[in-house]
Amino acid sequence: MVRTASKSFQVIVLAGACLPGWAQSGETKAIPIRVFNRANVTKADLARGLKVASAIFEEAGIAVSWAEGSADDHESTALDFSANGASNDACSSRRMGELHLALDLGPKTGVMTTTLGFALPCATHGADASIFVDRCEAVMQNTPASFAKILGHAIAHEIGHVLLGSNEHSPAGLMRARWEKADWRRVAAAHIPIAPADAVRMKAGPLMADTVALGR
Ligand SMILES: [Zn+2]
Repeated sequence: MVRTASKSFQVIVLAGACLPGWAQSGETKAIPIRVFNRANVTKADLARGLKVASAIFEEAGIAVSWAEGSADDHESTALDFSANGASNDACSSRRMGELHLALDLGPKTGVMTTTLGFALPCATHGADASIFVDRCEAVMQNTPASFAKILGHAIAHEIGHVLLGSNEHSPAGLMRARWEKADWRRVAAAHIPIAPADAVRMKAGPLMADTVALGR
């Protein structure tokens, strides 16, 4: 879960860039991620956001590829809370294959308004991660980071949880739980990288077992 600080700045989220349509990493064995754009993010903003997320993963030696899902595919965006994804415990098992990323609007109640998204690393069906697009837009109003960069970092953070197989957070880097205003300034200027130790753990996870890392 990524959280953004409102007053004292405890926000957590991320960023974007521009792709010519749906981006492929160029790697033949990248982690496939299907994106269900239920929040009607513009194609240009989405392409920029995915490019940012791709760059963050690539820097960590992880290749991802994006595909477009149907916004009407409710089965692929159903939420499976039955597994242990809501805790910090590692998944005992999870399904393999394509990941599902849902872009939605934040719920009116039940979730902190500073939360930009969440992951279900142990889901057996439906969405593996969800991003609250309107929350990302709200962050944009109060920080120097662009919407695409915020969106891209939020996506990378939540997919990072899925690769880790855990909702656990780290003290530094992309997988921190809360992001302060200084972090967003960093996002605006460049991006927040995945901490080296987290990258190692992501690449050691089951989802990477049948893919080819980029060599770092
Ligand atoms: Zn998180």
